[in-house]
Amino acid sequence: MYKIDLSKAQEEEAVRIHREAVVVDTHCDTLGGLIQPAQRGVAPKRLGEVSEKRQVEIPKMLEGGLDCQVFAMYTGTQEAQMDALFKAVKMADAFYQDAETYSDKFVAITKVDEILQAHKAGKVSGVLSIEGAEPLMGNLGVMRIMYRLGVRMISFTWNWRTPFADGLAARRTGGKLTDLGVQAVQEMDKLGIVLDVSHITDSCFNDIADLKKTPFIASHSNCRALCDNARNLTDDMIKALAADGGVLGMNFLTGFVAKEGANLEKMIDHVDHIVKLVGPDHVGLGADYDGGGGCPGLEDSSKLLNFTKELIRRGYEEEDIKKILGGNHLRVFKQVWK
Ligand SMILES: [Zn+2]
Repeated sequence: MYKIDLSKAQEEEAVRIHREAVVVDTHCDTLGGLIQPAQRGVAPKRLGEVSEKRQVEIPKMLEGGLDCQVFAMYTGTQEAQMDALFKAVKMADAFYQDAETYSDKFVAITKVDEILQAHKAGKVSGVLSIEGAEPLMGNLGVMRIMYRLGVRMISFTWNWRTPFADGLAARRTGGKLTDLGVQAVQEMDKLGIVLDVSHITDSCFNDIADLKKTPFIASHSNCRALCDNARNLTDDMIKALAADGGVLGMNFLTGFVAKEGANLEKMIDHVDHIVKLVGPDHVGLGADYDGGGGCPGLEDSSKLLNFTKELIRRGYEEEDIKKILGGNHLRVFKQVWK
């Protein structure tokens, strides 16, 4: 077990703060597993069941005090994109089916009030996002229908070029958003969908930072200054995101945490860095569970109390801990979702 050196009083303080906080995470890839075909007659475990390898599921969320999870619909390899819309609809169906089955513990939400109500009732909640805009088929009408389906966050690219923007595997031209991408930004502001910039190129990021007046989120990205990886943001990008009121969700994937020896402490170094750079209002959780996320001390969503314990150990104030655990994400959701 991961050891965090706290006094008994500090331990109790961590437990109390973590329980009172509304903990929000902006990225997991759990839904992909739910639509896998049965293997040797065994269907994937539903969200309410315990699956040892899976990192986000209702029992683990309850154990780790993860109050609201943004569930990404990621539709896979470039070759599979013909099926992207069908896959996304199947993931949404699996999500809502499970919300129905486990309604005593889990709520599908589209509003901040619903997150708070669920928290009060001792339930956990989830909301849909799209990672990579492939299911939108380059069409704003599909985007509007996805809004009606409950999608409240969208990223324009996983790593490829899409009709909206360039992802990190398509950065040679240093291009900006396409015309359609700009229209999509406006449509998302109108509808109330959060724009997620994780996986997008630096040049598209800068274009978005210039264009946007409302907050946007990097749902699962860390600091490039601490771990040099294109999936992390430079200090200038973090400042630009903060200037618009945005938030970075901290990604627990070892390769984005540290070149070597990634663990909880090195993860929290990223939090420290952002707080020093732009203050405590622009950092949150975006663990990337079931998509490669997880490092010693933060192995799955049942372990999130460790995140709070390490913040306590470093002397963070209660108010700031609650912001980092979820308050910052909720602020953006409230502003964008309306
Ligand atoms: Zn991702």
